[in-house]
Amino acid sequence: MPGAEKINGEWIKRYKNPWLIAGPCSVESEEQLLDITEKVAAQGVKVIRAGIWKPRTRPNSFEGVGAKAFDWIKSARSQFQVQFATEVASAQHVEQALKNDIDILWLGARTTVNPFTVQEIADALQGTDIPVLVKNPVNPDLALWIGAIERIYNAGISKIGAIHRGFSSFRKSQFRNEPVWQIPLELKRNIPEIPLICDPSHISGNRDMIFDISQKALDMGYNGLMIEVHPDPDKALSDAQQQITSDQLSEIRKNLKIRKATS
Ligand code: PEP
Ligand code: MN
Repeated sequence: MPGAEKINGEWIKRYKNPWLIAGPCSVESEEQLLDITEKVAAQGVKVIRAGIWKPRTRPNSFEGVGAKAFDWIKSARSQFQVQFATEVASAQHVEQALKNDIDILWLGARTTVNPFTVQEIADALQGTDIPVLVKNPVNPDLALWIGAIERIYNAGISKIGAIHRGFSSFRKSQFRNEPVWQIPLELKRNIPEIPLICDPSHISGNRDMIFDISQKALDMGYNGLMIEVHPDPDKALSDAQQQITSDQLSEIRKNLKIRKATS
């Protein structure tokens, strides 16, 4: 593997351990974004997730509000002093996100599976050093996950993290995406310092399981969590069943036992 094993996890130390990224699956309106950002920021969360281009499995579902969200994000960022993370799935998304001062980018599971797209994204990132989080591919293929991370690393990005969001399976399961915990552990064996963030929302697909999956990840020494939070989860335009309210987030945080960092 050309060098990705040298990825350095120092950069994540600027964030609290464990790091929490919380916010809506999708930005739906300015009002929704300001409302949830205010509530989540009031709990001390410093990075808000906000999907604006949504990769939906089937057509005719809500595909995100697109670039008009940038103005809303700017206003939420300055009012509540938080950073914003968004998903990029093409070189054009990267260009627009960089132009609009998004703080952190992530590659979704449907992007990580495609080396051509990942390479185009990596090329568009050349010359910047924005933090980039790479979700695992939808299928349980460790090499594909490592390959996507390498392409981003080889483009000169030093602030890289991995998000574990589980793996799709045809088998009936309590999980929306089965966690297969060995795969992220194996990723860490290959790239020891890569920060590992668990996404219990997409692993579970169900808000009742968010706490248990989060606790397991923290017990395993994960560096952070990415959790979907919405002002009115049942009315969310995407991933309604797995989103939680800011009050539920606060309750989960109160009950999570945080392992003392070993390094
Ligand atoms: C998301 O983060 O809302 C998303 C689409 O996730 P994933 O790429 O993990 O399916
Ligand atoms: Mn989602």
